Amino acid sequence: MAFQHHIDSERCKGCGLCVAVCPKKVLEISTKINDKGYFPAYQARPEDCVFCAMCCLMCPDVAITISEIVDEAAGEEEREGTYG
Ligand code: SF4
Ligand code: SF4
Repeated sequence: MAFQHHIDSERCKGCGLCVAVCPKKVLEISTKINDKGYFPAYQARPEDCVFCAMCCLMCPDVAITISEIVDEAAGEEEREGTYG
């Protein structure tokens, strides 16, 4: 089963809680500012993500989503997870 990790950089307020909670040190705060004037979190090391969903649970702005990627005969389809 495959998962996809997504951070909505326009929702993110750059509080750093997800960066602190990630057990694999996947996340960092970007040096690029978003439209609201915050420095959003991003996946600096996505290959290390174990999809534990700790960052999703921690985020006060519900900016992080983990979606399950379902392989169908007709192709690939995404199903929204309920973690974020
Ligand atoms: S899902 Fe887990 S391993 Fe992946 S970025 Fe979030 S806290 Fe880190
Ligand atoms: S916890 Fe949420 S708001 Fe805070 S830096 Fe992470 S994604 Fe952004």
